[in-house]
Amino acid sequence: MSDSAKHSLLSPSASHRWINCPPSARLTESYSDTGSAYANEGTLAHSVAEAKLKYRLGLSKSLPVCDDTEMDDYTDDYVTFVMEQIESLSDPKVYVEQKVDCSRYVPECKGTCDTLIISDGVLHIVDLKYGRGVKVDAEKNDQLRIYSLGALEMFGCLYDIDVVKMSIFQPRLGNCSTWEVFRESIENWADEVLKPAAQLAWDGGGGYKAGDHCQFCKAKAECRERANANLALAAYDFTEPALLDTVEIAVILGKVDELVSWASDIKDFALTEALKGVRFDGWKVVEGRSNRKYTDEIAVASAVNGIGLDPYEHKVLGITAMTSLLGKKRFEETLGGFIQKPAGKPVLVPQKDKRQEININTAADDFADPIEN
Ligand code: SF4
Repeated sequence: MSDSAKHSLLSPSASHRWINCPPSARLTESYSDTGSAYANEGTLAHSVAEAKLKYRLGLSKSLPVCDDTEMDDYTDDYVTFVMEQIESLSDPKVYVEQKVDCSRYVPECKGTCDTLIISDGVLHIVDLKYGRGVKVDAEKNDQLRIYSLGALEMFGCLYDIDVVKMSIFQPRLGNCSTWEVFRESIENWADEVLKPAAQLAWDGGGGYKAGDHCQFCKAKAECRERANANLALAAYDFTEPALLDTVEIAVILGKVDELVSWASDIKDFALTEALKGVRFDGWKVVEGRSNRKYTDEIAVASAVNGIGLDPYEHKVLGITAMTSLLGKKRFEETLGGFIQKPAGKPVLVPQKDKRQEININTAADDFADPIEN
């Protein structure tokens, strides 16, 4: 799924941010859009997936060739998922890369749905996400809700639609998340939440509010609201006694990831600016630590061979590199029996996390460090 007007002020892909922090839209308006290799890769994967799906649906005669075996496999997975949805329906209407207009609720807002399926009173939007950075959940996903509204605007009069189903298919993380709601619920959300927030954002109004949505904000390093929110934690007024209790530590745990993320954004931003010539009082740019390296690897190998020794280390490729080499299917066929997933190290997460809690009494031995003899 993509935003048609890539540089539109209120893009659906950034909606989680501007709904929660409306003035961020105008604040970041003048920041330049620096694309990334990940974005280019995502665009390519979407083109491949679109062409493959159109071929499977008989809408195109040629099957695209994809030289990237990993992308080839993952886009196959996406097409298989979509076809499974379609094949179980009676007389489905399928639209691939369907442009929708969401401007009834959000000024100048348009977008493109990867796949849109309508059947038996259900509008189903399937969104391919090719990234592997952040796992995306379909439940209450603002971007998908906005696209649903655009699709309802377009098809709501043509078909009886009572239910909206939204799926995010994120093959590189093994994530497939689906959320189903009544049409009325989406339209109520649009009137009560989306439309007022969009108008505030368009007008540059509303209050700044920091939160997880700051992660993709272009002003995240310089933003005073975010700084205030994080510095408030740093200035937390802990009272006596001298040692923190479990309640206080629980409060800190809930804030620490954002605090670290903000600190890291500040460091990256300040270095970038300093390298452009900006001076920060009391700070200077120096050379970081570096390691020795060979000037000519071929000459090094030849020299070590010359004295009768093997200059190479021989290691089996890691799972990610091996999957890229073999492709996902061949990897499963050839090496599936040799793959084991050991228990992960214990990690503290908020109660709302969906993973099952570890029984620390029985698990203690599993996670104990091996004893050195
Ligand atoms: S960093 Fe966060 S609080 Fe600041 S403008 Fe962006 S979204 Fe709003």
